[in-house]
Amino acid sequence: MRVRIIVVFVLAGLVPCLGALFGIVKFYEFRAVELRTAEIQNQCTILCNQLGNYNYLTDTSSEVINANLTQLTNIYNGRVMIIDRDLKVVKDTYSLDEGKTDVSENVIRCMQGETTNQYDRRNNYIEVTSPIMGVDNEITGVMLASVSTDNIEATMQILYTHGGVVVGIILILLTVFSVFFADRMVRPIHRITRAIESVTEGYTDDVLHVDTFTETKQLSEAFNKMLGRLKLLDESREEFVSNVSHELKTPMTSMKVLADSLLEMKEAPVEMYQEFMQDIAKEIDRENQIITDLLSLVKMDKTGQNINIQTVNINDLLEQTLKRLRPIAEKKNVEMVMESFRPVTAEIDEMKFTLAISNLVENAIKYNHDNGWVHVSLNADHKYFYIKVEDSGIGIPEADQPHIFERFYRVDKSHSREIGGTGLGLAIARNAVIAHRGAIKVYSNEGEGTTFTVRIPLIYVAV
Ligand code: ADP
Repeated sequence: MRVRIIVVFVLAGLVPCLGALFGIVKFYEFRAVELRTAEIQNQCTILCNQLGNYNYLTDTSSEVINANLTQLTNIYNGRVMIIDRDLKVVKDTYSLDEGKTDVSENVIRCMQGETTNQYDRRNNYIEVTSPIMGVDNEITGVMLASVSTDNIEATMQILYTHGGVVVGIILILLTVFSVFFADRMVRPIHRITRAIESVTEGYTDDVLHVDTFTETKQLSEAFNKMLGRLKLLDESREEFVSNVSHELKTPMTSMKVLADSLLEMKEAPVEMYQEFMQDIAKEIDRENQIITDLLSLVKMDKTGQNINIQTVNINDLLEQTLKRLRPIAEKKNVEMVMESFRPVTAEIDEMKFTLAISNLVENAIKYNHDNGWVHVSLNADHKYFYIKVEDSGIGIPEADQPHIFERFYRVDKSHSREIGGTGLGLAIARNAVIAHRGAIKVYSNEGEGTTFTVRIPLIYVAV
């Protein structure tokens, strides 16, 4: 980035400078040639008039004219040729072509009345033609003057040299400035990079403040936000691991105590063995349940990537789920009623969705009174379908309601444990609903009952 800033700065300064230098020199050349041409043209016109008066085309001995011609060639470092109507050179200030015929295009055009001028950049001269008029105002000859533009070229070279020095100085200043500027631009980014690197070595409690530019301020704010979120995630991960260890350890401890007690009793009766072994079997079931729930939860966490969406008849799915749970309800003599307001077909992951609904209905039975009831209803509009699971159970205290979806959160640990809860059921249900881009809510009055509502889009929206 630093090198790029320097290159961009230097180029941004250099290109216009070179352009300006080139433009100025070219403009000077154009103006100088234009003025020089006009001057020569003027001189030629004056001389042509004199030539006509002195009848120079027939007699080139006029001293006045010859002196004027010599003066003209000396001043402008040029050559003048006088050509008569037959295109014969009658006078050449270089005395090279006298008596020869000149059939150049400019001479012929001038002979037809056109004054011409031409700038030959490569050979550094301007060529001007001017007609010589006779007494009857007819063209009797042509004056052809070619003058050197060496001094214009020399001035251009001087301009290029001086301009080049100025551009060179600008280039040095630009480089120094751009190095300094690039350094200032890059410094806050280096600071941010160092801070990010320090995060990879472990979270620090430092908050990043790089307020040099609005952008770096926004970047450091975003970084701090991300860091905060990472810290939270890390804390929640640590908490989860410690909860998992604790939850898995509890049945183990019970089993160990039961086994040790049996081992210590030398002559324990068979009935006691059977009773203790039954308790151990229960603890194994519980351990198993916790592991199953944990695996479901881990799977749910990855749902974003591997959700298996199918079009499913929700009415049938609910009927089947209730049918599976009916034996548990019957044990407590809980009445289960299902109410469908309309047939609903939706795009869902059947396995995950069933797990969510099973957990809700199972809780409604588990946390119910004997002879209570559970109502499950299904409704839909053009966008979503809605499931309501109501029960006449023990309810959830208001203070606990915001936490019940957290992993391992249980309102009454001993009661929940007694009825076989792991504290993961609602976390699994919530993750499954979120994986379907849905929403889950709880309404409850302690001692009166609880209602869970679930809203899921009929058509799965992949993000
Ligand atoms: P658990 O496996 O303990 O049931 P959940 O995550 O399913 O764990 O539920 C968390 C806690 O929320 C439960 O321990 C229970 O206290 C409370 N809870 C959940 N559903 C109900 C309900 N329908 N009625 C009363 N309390 C409930």
